[in-house]
Amino acid sequence: MDLGIKGKKAIVCAASKGLGKGCAQALAAEGVDLTICARGADALNATAKELAGSGVKVTPVACDVTTDAGRKLLLEACPNPDILINNAGGPPPGDFKNFSLDDWRKAVEGNMISPIALIHATIYGMMERGFGRILNITSASIKQPIAALELSNGARLGLTGGVAVLARKASRNNVTINGILPGPFDTDRLRGTSQKMAEARKVSLSVIDDERKAAVPAGRFGTPEEFGKVAAFLCSAHAGYITGQNILIDGGGYPGAL
Ligand code: NAP
Repeated sequence: MDLGIKGKKAIVCAASKGLGKGCAQALAAEGVDLTICARGADALNATAKELAGSGVKVTPVACDVTTDAGRKLLLEACPNPDILINNAGGPPPGDFKNFSLDDWRKAVEGNMISPIALIHATIYGMMERGFGRILNITSASIKQPIAALELSNGARLGLTGGVAVLARKASRNNVTINGILPGPFDTDRLRGTSQKMAEARKVSLSVIDDERKAAVPAGRFGTPEEFGKVAAFLCSAHAGYITGQNILIDGGGYPGAL
């Protein structure tokens, strides 16, 4: 299917690796010009080079998207995107008892205020031009909170609630905002948490991996490529009637019927 977005411009945040990179790859395959960011310049430049192989224009911006200065650089590189994919690293795990107020402020700044700032800076231009697709990469934890990830549960739900009305209002101008909610995906982040679990329990990584996969109805982790393809469809010309939705991509992990 031709997604009808060839020649559009996208900002994909946190895209040198993992889910963000999966989204950037899928958009590049559709002929979308990309502005991508990550903090580490080496991996970012390598990914930009790889993506440019699809024949699209790729602008890498090495920055921390959770800072005002980082977002300014990103918007200078692409002031009028047609597509915005919000993403960043997640807050650290821990116990509610031990989280300081600064931990909470940092989580809200990184996973709620930063995406809202980018939405605010770009959505009104999209509405004027009559096309826009905004995706927030959040987490399956907004449907089913994860015990050790209370900072993430809270900040991501704040973002989801914060844009729910705007998602409806903007749709009149063919601009949509949706959340995509990953369950376990095979990325550096997941491999890092599995490694820590293996060390804590003094078992091999494969024991942890097998347990984690067995907990998913699909019996496996998702891949960044399949995540990116769902994201690209939600950014397509055909998805203008989907807005304000929060779409789980979790191999059936969420147990509810609705
Ligand atoms: P990943 O494989 O570790 O990749 C993270 C990417 O984001 C890297 O390119 C990283 O590059 C970049 N990044 C991180 N913080 C950044 C920042 N402040 N500014 C700019 N770039 C930044 O992680 P992932 O698995 O793709 O996860 C992406 C998001 O999905 C995270 O918020 C994660 O919590 C969430 N999530 C993931 C899963 C999963 O199973 N993978 C499940 C649920 C939710 P640099 O480090 O160089 O900046």
